[in-house]
Amino acid sequence: DLYNKLIELKGNIRVFCRCRPLNAEEMAEGASTAIDFESAKDGELVVKGHVSSKKVFKFDSVFSPEDDQEKVFEKTAPFATSVLDGFNVCIFAYGQTGTGKTFTMEGIDGARGVNYRTLEELFRIIKEREGIFLYEVTVSVLEVYNEQIHDLLLTGSQPGATTKRLEVRQVAEGVHHVPGLVEARVTNMNEAWEVLQTGSKARVVGSTNANEHSSRSHCIHCVMVKGENLIDGECTKSKLWLIDLAGSERVAKTDAQGERLKEAQNINKSLSALGDVISALATKTPHIPFRNSKLTHLLQDSLSGDSKTLMFVQISPNENDVGETLCSLNFASRVR
Ligand code: ADP
Ligand code: MG
Repeated sequence: DLYNKLIELKGNIRVFCRCRPLNAEEMAEGASTAIDFESAKDGELVVKGHVSSKKVFKFDSVFSPEDDQEKVFEKTAPFATSVLDGFNVCIFAYGQTGTGKTFTMEGIDGARGVNYRTLEELFRIIKEREGIFLYEVTVSVLEVYNEQIHDLLLTGSQPGATTKRLEVRQVAEGVHHVPGLVEARVTNMNEAWEVLQTGSKARVVGSTNANEHSSRSHCIHCVMVKGENLIDGECTKSKLWLIDLAGSERVAKTDAQGERLKEAQNINKSLSALGDVISALATKTPHIPFRNSKLTHLLQDSLSGDSKTLMFVQISPNENDVGETLCSLNFASRVR
């Protein structure tokens, strides 16, 4: 369709920027906002100038604090169609802790996020194509923490545990596989959601401080789709990755020691590896450094070729966060 043609023309990497609202605490403190939504044109994000001049960033879409989950999903929905058309798709949420990565991906009660809505859209289209296409869907839930891959659907697996680590293996040219990864077969939205919830619960149970842990690990949902065209017999295999990345905030070397320092270094390593890979793909560099982190190695097949990538860059409107906000916006400009 037209949308997919446009995607091809513009390349396969989309970047959406989403700014959360000021929260109650910030409002009570009378925090000022660093983002100027009034003067921004479509697709622009304007960071107000104070010491230096104002900075303008361009994105495929910009969502202001007033934009709700429906509005965000309107622009995200075409990626679900792409998966059923046989494309690999990666959707990431990137940004400082507290900027709404989990809100965008997982959502909250009464405001479902991208994960739920994308699955719902997948099953809606599968139903719509019944009799023409036959689809088989499996889901996996994993986590990358300290450069180790953990399977959250594997009974007894605990985030942060040193046992039952998974590895990425190349099984054929351009085909990577994670031996032993649990792939749960699901036939409808309820089943799929139940499995994903099981994974999320395993993540919380295994950690002493769920919030802190989740901001230091990459939470990954993978939906694998096998499609068969019942008319011409053509088969497709594709993957949809939904990824709530670890917080991108820089940790001062003086503040972090021991385990915390190691975590910070590993997060840094994997996020910069991700940035390097996506920008190398965008500029069509011949050597793509997939092997530099577990995350990029895991996603290798789904980032290369004619795969589609969507990066949500999440930001805070708070003037006090402007340093981190500029870092995130610069990261995003590099991958675009
Ligand atoms: P992160 O995962 O990046 O650390 P969260 O998703 O946990 O951030 O968001 C931090 C807080 O802000 C949560 O209470 C969340 O519900 C709220 N929040 C984030 N984005 C929005 C938004 N667009 N609208 C309303 N509340 C939001
Ligand atoms: Mg989070």
